[in-house]
Parts: sequence; structure tokens; C-alpha cells
Amino acid sequence: MTDDYPPLEAEIRRRITAAGPMPVAQYMTLCLTHPEHGYYITRDPFGAKGDFVTAPEISQMFGELIGLWCAATWRAMGAPENVRLVELGPGRGTMMLDAVRAVHIVPDFRKALVVHMVEVSPALEQRQRQALAGTDVPVEWHRSLDEVPDGPIIIVANEFIDALPVHQAVMCVDGWHERVIKIADNGTLQFSHARDPIPLFDQMLPRPLRSAPIGAIFEWRADQIALEIGRRVVRSHGAALMIDYGHTVSAAGDTFQAVGRQLFANPLQSPGTVDLTAHVDFQALGHAAQALGADIHGPVDQATFLRRLGIETRAEALKKGSPLAKNAEVNSALARLTSEQGTGMGKLFKAMAVADPALGELPGFERADAGETGNLLGDKRSG
Ligand code: SAH
Repeated sequence: MTDDYPPLEAEIRRRITAAGPMPVAQYMTLCLTHPEHGYYITRDPFGAKGDFVTAPEISQMFGELIGLWCAATWRAMGAPENVRLVELGPGRGTMMLDAVRAVHIVPDFRKALVVHMVEVSPALEQRQRQALAGTDVPVEWHRSLDEVPDGPIIIVANEFIDALPVHQAVMCVDGWHERVIKIADNGTLQFSHARDPIPLFDQMLPRPLRSAPIGAIFEWRADQIALEIGRRVVRSHGAALMIDYGHTVSAAGDTFQAVGRQLFANPLQSPGTVDLTAHVDFQALGHAAQALGADIHGPVDQATFLRRLGIETRAEALKKGSPLAKNAEVNSALARLTSEQGTGMGKLFKAMAVADPALGELPGFERADAGETGNLLGDKRSG
């Protein structure tokens, strides 16, 4: 009986009963963005009391530096008179709010921009509208990137790609099979694999992975978004900045995970009530965009990226003349965003940009041997 389950689980069970075991990617799509019961559709999961905390929610410094990165990128684009500043998956709207405030110091950029928020969740769109209500830049909302009008474009996305559905394949004796979710004999949802192997799957894998051991898992995103981003930045002479956690080189491994109330949870239990993510494969993302003619910048780890943009200078400025409590808060946010240890995001998170090759070098992605360069806040550093 599926009727005894909460509505989303009942629907998943109905679909499995009717059509057979469900690929992980389809399960993830339903859990996160089912139009009525999806995780992002029904709630605001962010913040200290929520399920997880993202970089823009930790400190205003994050969004401010992203805003300045956008202004510098706009200059590299030749400072077009009109530019679309697009954010994919903007959550509470905090990053955009901090970004547009920070670019007050670049008035021509501010004058040129129209903000486009791409958000699938009506609840979060509401939240973003409230956040941006006071700003004087024009803002529009869309459900997908292809609704954003053509023309010069800068795209930013923090912790967006990891929320896009992943497929998984499991290595079996006779090759790679798609990983699926079935209803087990004891009635619970369980992982399994499709009966038939995926034809020619080996050929699509990076060479070192072709001889993976039995039981190995490989993940890939079939989502069109990487291609769409690559196409847009080349066609519109723009750039896209993606920050997320993941690996720089494609590798085998199961990174499909659930988080609720800041703790790991079972991804197959209570579908739609916990966040589901999988690491971003930056190599695959880069290859897809490169195939369309885009240049790849990075990935570099988040600590390096934010330091090159000047996060330490910004932290000092925020602390100047502030009460002690505020200083401690800034210090702890700085550590959280850049530390490579413990719960620090410095190393696990990476920044990567894809851009029209005409743009040349972009801030934060300077080659390590580029020598003395100024950061976006105007002071000098070496290397
Ligand atoms: N960038 C924000 C939120 C990250 S969570 C931050 O850093 O705080 C992921 C965001 O992407 C949420 O806003 C979610 O509703 C949105 N989202 C998830 N899948 C989406 C899709 N397919 N299209 C558009 N937005 C999506």
C-alpha cells in the first residue's frame, strides 16, 4: 500500500511499482524539485537553524567579493553598456544583495546591469524578492537559464551544480550498470542496479577508470546546464563563475549524500525532507564547456580564490573600529570560508570559471607564476 506513506514517497513507490526500479538521477530530481513536494519547493533550508549553511550565509564578505569579481569581469568583456548578471540557484538572495551593494564603487557597472535570478522554487523566489526589495537595480526572475534574454552575460552560481541530479553507474562482472532504487522484499527503498549493462559505457569514461574494480561507482551529470553555460558565454562574449564542492579530476566514488539539520542522513529515507547532493566533477564540467569553445579558468580552491580577491583586506576593513564581538565574528567567518581543516570550506570547495576566450585572464585565476598582482581591493600581494 503506497497510501500510508507521505505524498512524495507514495508517488516514488507508485512509479517504481508501475515502471520498475528508478535511476538515482530521477529520484534526486523528484526529491529536490518535485513541483509540489520537492525539498527546495516546500522550504527554506538555509541558515544556522536550517539544514545547511552556505558561504554567502556565513559572511557578507563572500557576496561582496563575488560582486567585485563580476565588475572586473565586465571590464575584461570591454565594459558593455548592458550586461545580464545572472545567478543560478540564489537560495535566500543573500549573495546577490551583498554583490550589488559592493559594486557601488563601480558605478558604470552598476548602471549597466540587469540582475536575472534563475530559481526553480517559488518559496525561495519569494524569499529572494524580499531580500532584494530595497535595491535600486532592476531584477527579474526565471525558472531556467534559457529564459534569460540574449546579450552580454555574467553568470554566477554557488552550491548550485551539486544540487543538480547525478546518474550513477555500478561496475558489475559484465560491465557498468545504471544504479537504481528499488522496493526491497522487506518493503524499504534500497539501492540496486539495472538488469542490463549500459552499452559502450567504458568508452565514455576517462581511461584510468575503465578498469575499475567490481562495485566501483561512477557519477555523471547528464544535465544540460554545463552545455548551456558554455554555449551562452561563448555566444555572448561573457563568463560564468561556479563555486561548489567537488573534485578537480574525474574519479570513481559514491558521493551521493543527504543532509538534514546539518547532519548526514539516509538519502532513501523520508524523500523530499532532506537535502540531496553529489560532488561536482569539475573536469567533466570543464570538458563540456570547452567542447563548445569556452576557455576554462581554474579550478582553484576556495581559500586561494578568496585570498586572491582580497578577503583578508576586506576582513581587516570590517574589523576596523568595530566592537570586539564583531571582530571575533569576522575572524571566525574568515576561518570558516578559507580554512583547510575541520569544517573549513577552503579546500573542499573550488572555484572555476568558463569564459569566452577573448576575455583573457580573469581575477582569482591568475597563473601561479604571474608575479606581483593587485587584488580587487587595491592592495598588492606577491605570487
Ligand atoms: N546559492 C545559494 C543556494 C544554494 S542551494 C547559496 O549559496 O546559499 C541550491 C539553490 O538552487 C536553491 O535556491 C534551489 O532552489 C535552486 N535550484 C535547485 N535546482 C534548481 C534548478 N534545476 N533550477 C533552478 N534552481 C534550482
